Amino acid sequence: PTKALQELDAAHHWHPFSDMKSLNDEGSRIITSADGVWLTDSEGKKILDGMAGLWCVQVGHGRKEIADAVHKQMVELSYYNTFFKTTHPPAIALAERLAKLAPDHLNTVFFCSSGSEANDTVFRMVRTYWDKQGKPDKKVIIGRWNGYHGSTLAGTSLGGMKGMHEQGDLPVAGVHHIDQPYWFGEGHDMSPDDFGIHVARKLEQAIDEIGEDKVAAFIAEPIQGAGGVIIPPETYWPEVRRILEEREILFVADEVICGFGRLGEWFGSTYYGIKPDLMPIAKGLTSGYLPMGGVMVSDKVAEGLMLAGGDFNHGYTYSGHPACAAAALANLDIIEREGLVGRVKNDIGPYLQERWLKLGEHELVGEARMSGIVGALELVPDKKNPHKPFKDVGVPGLLCRDISFEHGMVMRAVRDSMIISPPLVLTHEEADFLIATAEKTLNDTYRILKR
Ligand code: PLP
Repeated sequence: PTKALQELDAAHHWHPFSDMKSLNDEGSRIITSADGVWLTDSEGKKILDGMAGLWCVQVGHGRKEIADAVHKQMVELSYYNTFFKTTHPPAIALAERLAKLAPDHLNTVFFCSSGSEANDTVFRMVRTYWDKQGKPDKKVIIGRWNGYHGSTLAGTSLGGMKGMHEQGDLPVAGVHHIDQPYWFGEGHDMSPDDFGIHVARKLEQAIDEIGEDKVAAFIAEPIQGAGGVIIPPETYWPEVRRILEEREILFVADEVICGFGRLGEWFGSTYYGIKPDLMPIAKGLTSGYLPMGGVMVSDKVAEGLMLAGGDFNHGYTYSGHPACAAAALANLDIIEREGLVGRVKNDIGPYLQERWLKLGEHELVGEARMSGIVGALELVPDKKNPHKPFKDVGVPGLLCRDISFEHGMVMRAVRDSMIISPPLVLTHEEADFLIATAEKTLNDTYRILKR
């Protein structure tokens, strides 16, 4: 019974990113099973998973093939570690597979269990890399306001979420933030192209101010996900690339969301033609079936750090976990066999984009944007003056999110942007349902806000 479960949950379970004080009144949502893009809750209600869990379930829910691969691996070797030069076949096979899939210059992977751990690993890798090059003063890492790189100390610090920094007195020393390429919210007094150049040059300014001899790395998501699906203007990445090519600084492309097909390429870096030295991955690596992450490392960093002699004193009990590696391999088999990356590029991506962008005409929407199958709708109080936010920022978004859930679809609210990022296996019919539900949700939200 839902109520009894909700009471138990409220009594003992502290949820991430949740206001627990209100949980007793509202009750948690309890998801009991899932298949394809559909979730079922404890009341038997079917809900379209418009967020692929937390941007991770690329191949859809309930793939027996992955469960079988994990079971087989667990029976054979449920656990062994990869410390001190030991390994096992699934970790070997996965490392080789990833080296083949990643851009050509990334041929090595360091395994961990999540995106946050991947970014903690990055934090230590970049500083240690420069130590090994005889440049120990290169310590500062530049991130972006409103970027998200996880919840650990390094992840939170590298990210630019002020609400997270406030809790725990972060960022840690040596992290610097620059503006994000958020044209709709912060750059609309220029053309998108001009703003793209303008905001990219913030990186150049920051490096010049801090001093190139003190900057170790720049970290950014190809498209900022949790910050609100911030799709940069077309001019942004080429200009950042130019700035980085002229300077001796490592570039970290956080592919935790963009990786594994979400943008219609295997990696967001390929989509934008950018060339990372380090590439944190997680989420779509296993489609969330088991927790796993990693850092893909360029040949340059492998040579300068991994092969430079001496241990890198870093690692996790579960680095390369055999069952997680088996889940990843089975997941990658499905993505390749079913051509899901090409499907996002040539089929379901364009199909969904065409319809999603039309929602931009709605009275409540100031901008609709989408790349691959990740998109956002900016809710605004006055369509004629679309860049002016709501007075009670965040409240309309939560209202819209709850109405969407009532109508049978998960959309996420980031402030007053409504976000979707469905599984890559979404069919045309399911995309039609998604669009119709989004439209119905916008109509209802608009009606209530107008009252
Ligand atoms: N990096 C990015 C870009 C993310 O979106 C996330 C999670 O949403 C993370 C890192 C952290 O990953 P995890 O939650 O697996 O620690």
